[in-house]
Amino acid sequence: MRLRHIAKAMPIIEQSEFVEHDPAAWKGRWKERFGNDRPLHIEVGMGKGRFITTMAEQNPEIDYIGIERADAVLYRALQKQQELKLPNLILLLADADNIEEYFAENEVDRIYLNFSDPWPKAHHAKRRLTSGTHMDKYANILKPEGCICFKTDNRDLFDYSLEAVQEAGWSISDLTYDLHHSEYAEGNVMTEYEERFSGMGNPICRAVFRHTEGPES
Ligand code: SAM
Repeated sequence: MRLRHIAKAMPIIEQSEFVEHDPAAWKGRWKERFGNDRPLHIEVGMGKGRFITTMAEQNPEIDYIGIERADAVLYRALQKQQELKLPNLILLLADADNIEEYFAENEVDRIYLNFSDPWPKAHHAKRRLTSGTHMDKYANILKPEGCICFKTDNRDLFDYSLEAVQEAGWSISDLTYDLHHSEYAEGNVMTEYEERFSGMGNPICRAVFRHTEGPES
């Protein structure tokens, strides 16, 4: 997601109570940070935050953390949270490559990956958020019964991801190549990218990944 530089973004982010500025300090203690014992769902690459703010609004019994590395983009999500003031949503200006610094083993119940950057060039495959390296990191922070919900309109990224996650020892379920016309459409919360690309007529692919003991044969 490309946005023009927003000069005021960083000072506002830095002073915001809705952003956790030292996420590593809360590793293994997010329940304490939220002050409750609710399940923890995170979105990696939340963009402008429509998905996670809507989810947090609809599901007050779940705690949410939105992770975004671009300040100008996170700023848009922060503007939404400044209006909503949802007690069950915290934003992190952080790179998901370091996700194990922020969450302990078995701390997270669910991870959302929505319209992750496709990195189409083969030599950039390791940067894709569904690469084996990233999936290994998610496996370390997810509870054994936890899952990853992935959606994208990019068929190449989707096909790559289905292969990559199985190689990394994950099973695939709830798969559809046309989410909006599938049995999974009900209750689907659209992201900013999803609205844009489905509006252009692109079908949305979606699947759920669960970690298994070892790589599938
Ligand atoms: N999920 C949003 C949506 O569906 O509208 C945004 C999709 S946009 C294509 C991908 C977002 O992921 C960008 O805002 C980008 O900055 C963020 N991103 C990519 N890699 C990331 C990483 N390693 N850590 C945190 N955010 C990342």
